[in-house]
Amino acid sequence: MINLKTDEEIEILRENNLLVSKTLAEVGKHIKPEVTTLALDKIAEEFIRDNGAEPGFLGYNGFPNTLCISVNSVVVHGIPSNCRLHEGDIVSIDCGTRMKGFYGDSAYTFAVGKISTEAENLLKVTKESLYKGIEQINSNARIGDISNAIQTHAEKHGYSVVREMIGHGIGRNMHEKPNVPNYGKKGNGARLQNGMVICIEPMINLGKRNIYIEDDGWTVRTCDNKYSAHFELAVAIRDKGKADILSTFKFIEEQFNSSEYN
Ligand code: MG
Ligand code: MG
Repeated sequence: MINLKTDEEIEILRENNLLVSKTLAEVGKHIKPEVTTLALDKIAEEFIRDNGAEPGFLGYNGFPNTLCISVNSVVVHGIPSNCRLHEGDIVSIDCGTRMKGFYGDSAYTFAVGKISTEAENLLKVTKESLYKGIEQINSNARIGDISNAIQTHAEKHGYSVVREMIGHGIGRNMHEKPNVPNYGKKGNGARLQNGMVICIEPMINLGKRNIYIEDDGWTVRTCDNKYSAHFELAVAIRDKGKADILSTFKFIEEQFNSSEYN
């Protein structure tokens, strides 16, 4: 069953997702060579609590931290640790919050210092594929239209789409119906309806799509050990099939253009 949200509930979801967006930007300021992923996790936890929310991932199905931090060939669900970032790494930061009974959930893959052209292109195309998915949203669209647009864009560039992990509805629970795969056929899946709120989150691999879960039970890594990228936004479907994007990358990307960041 799909829980449709009222306008008031969508505003609370927006508050959560804006806080996630600001947390990602705060963490982004500290992404540089030699920082540990655990230090980034602490920054996020403090920022979320200072803003009156709780970390959404901490304790979720037993996850031990505030952020999922996934470096290079880690697709998603990387656990923060004392490992340090290095120049040339790519690092996906996935963040969740809970406030006023609802969740926020978004992710961004950052470059650590100067990265290879190969990695840069993967980040660009993965983010583009997310927006291609969002562009499909209209009053007649189905989930499969979003899925197909993401897959088509990623594969056109020679990348592959992770199948085992997918996007989802969000609300009073972090993961709700409908499922939002990053692959599929146009015209398939649930029809979009006013009041649906979904997280669209392509996980795109430079090499083959195959993944495995490491012995910690969380870390998802590409089998060929090549890069994987991940971008996620929460989107509400409003009246007449209009997409209302509840999270934003603008706080992150403003920093890339500021002298402080460069
Ligand atoms: Mg998600
Ligand atoms: Mg997420």
